Amino acid sequence: MAAGREVLLLEASPRAGGCIRTLRREGFLLEEGPDSFLTTKPAILPLAEALTLQPVGTNPQLRRSFVVRSGRLLPVPEGFYLMAPASLSGLWETPLFSVPGKLRMMMEPLVPARRDGKDESLAAFVRRRLGSEALTRFAQPMAGGIHTADPETLSMQAAFPQFLAMEREHGSLWKGLQNLPRGTSGPRYGLFASFAGGLQELVDALAASLPPGVLRTGAGVLRLSRDAGGWHLTLADGSLLEAGSLCVALGALAAARLLDDADPVLAAQLGGIACASTATLSLGFRREQVEHPLDGMGFVVPAAEGLSLLSCSFSSSKFPGRAPEGHVLMRAFAGGALRPDLFGLPDADLITAVLADLRKLLGISGDPVLTHLARHPVSMPQPRLGHLERVSRIEALEKDLGGLALCGNYLRGAGIPDCVASGEAAAGRLA
Ligand SMILES: Cc1cc2nc3c(=O)[nH]c(=O)nc-3n(C[C@H](O)[C@H](O)[C@H](O)COP(=O)(O)OP(=O)(O)OC[C@H]3O[C@@H](n4cnc5c(N)ncnc54)[C@H](O)[C@@H]3O)c2cc1C
Repeated sequence: MAAGREVLLLEASPRAGGCIRTLRREGFLLEEGPDSFLTTKPAILPLAEALTLQPVGTNPQLRRSFVVRSGRLLPVPEGFYLMAPASLSGLWETPLFSVPGKLRMMMEPLVPARRDGKDESLAAFVRRRLGSEALTRFAQPMAGGIHTADPETLSMQAAFPQFLAMEREHGSLWKGLQNLPRGTSGPRYGLFASFAGGLQELVDALAASLPPGVLRTGAGVLRLSRDAGGWHLTLADGSLLEAGSLCVALGALAAARLLDDADPVLAAQLGGIACASTATLSLGFRREQVEHPLDGMGFVVPAAEGLSLLSCSFSSSKFPGRAPEGHVLMRAFAGGALRPDLFGLPDADLITAVLADLRKLLGISGDPVLTHLARHPVSMPQPRLGHLERVSRIEALEKDLGGLALCGNYLRGAGIPDCVASGEAAAGRLA
């Protein structure tokens, strides 16, 4: 932001951070929202460094995950990367797929490459290249799960352009993965990090770095309008503010609501982005209550298993300091685009359903010593087919309006590093 400008950061809730929130409860350190970030994406590490924060990597001894098949946790096969295999032995030896399913996946290099540049859903892409079992048993929970998405509508161009590039440039995912730099074709758990005190450290350090008076919490913006003089804001307490330029850093639907008066066409484009609702359930147990060794980062659940959770992180295996001595912490995800019915359950029913499935999957006895449910309504933007064209339209409308910069998780990536990059770019456009 240009020097000499007065900047005001208006936050509706009593605290900064949005869905990033770390809590300390009964000796556990739990995350209500995100629990880690990808260190390979630009923007996040320079920001952490500027704030003198020290990222903590995932436990190097336990860098593997599991996929549920027929109620059992099976390790992600060696050499698999999000949706495709890069190791023949890894594919052949895994009990995750049937023999016909494995043979179909082995034929992937022979499938003619599509190079027409058209968008395709994750489901159509994986079925075409690797077969339907690869989709239902792996790509849906693993790749689609990142966005808690329905693979039938998730845009490959927006969510996984690197796989389209492999097909285009190498003719197959198999060849594309063989050509990746050494060590980057398998799952890359080592590239995820958090902080010793959880992701809240990032929020607290950012808030503390602002000059006094810049951040106003409990200051929701109710209405926006625009005229030749600039932006006029009505806050929830009825007070009025004026601004020469405005950065709207909200979810897509909240941004659509606020911008409806100023630019209904832009608001309609924003409002057309579907957002799924998710819940996270953190559960603490005494170590001896859980039979499973929890020797990994966690597991994902294919929708075909018909269970009440999408995935579960073994939080206390993943990062140090998440559970008190002799205890473990895990965190399940529920809801998403495929299971809105579960998100809609009352708290007690949702907890009962998820806990019942976890008991069976992990051999849990007795009641949790800690239970914490967090809900994130319409929080997960769904980059559906044609998403990138929509984003281009939104960017063009933003430019036409002038004095406005949009940023957030619905534009070009939903992860924390993407949001940091999006925010920095928005600030740059207003400078
Ligand atoms: C459950 C969950 C788990 C996730 N896990 C990960 C992960 O592990 N790693 C990762 O990289 N990403 C993860 N993500 C994605 C990532 O966390 C989010 O995309 C990102 O944090 C969004 O940040 P944001 O500030 O753009 O939006 P939000 O966090 O939604 O914040 C928006 C803020 O705007 C405020 N607000 C709303 N309306 C108004 C108004 N009218 N006036 C003023 N203020 C308003 C809200 O109070 C809120 O504080 C996860 C997301 C969720 C929901």
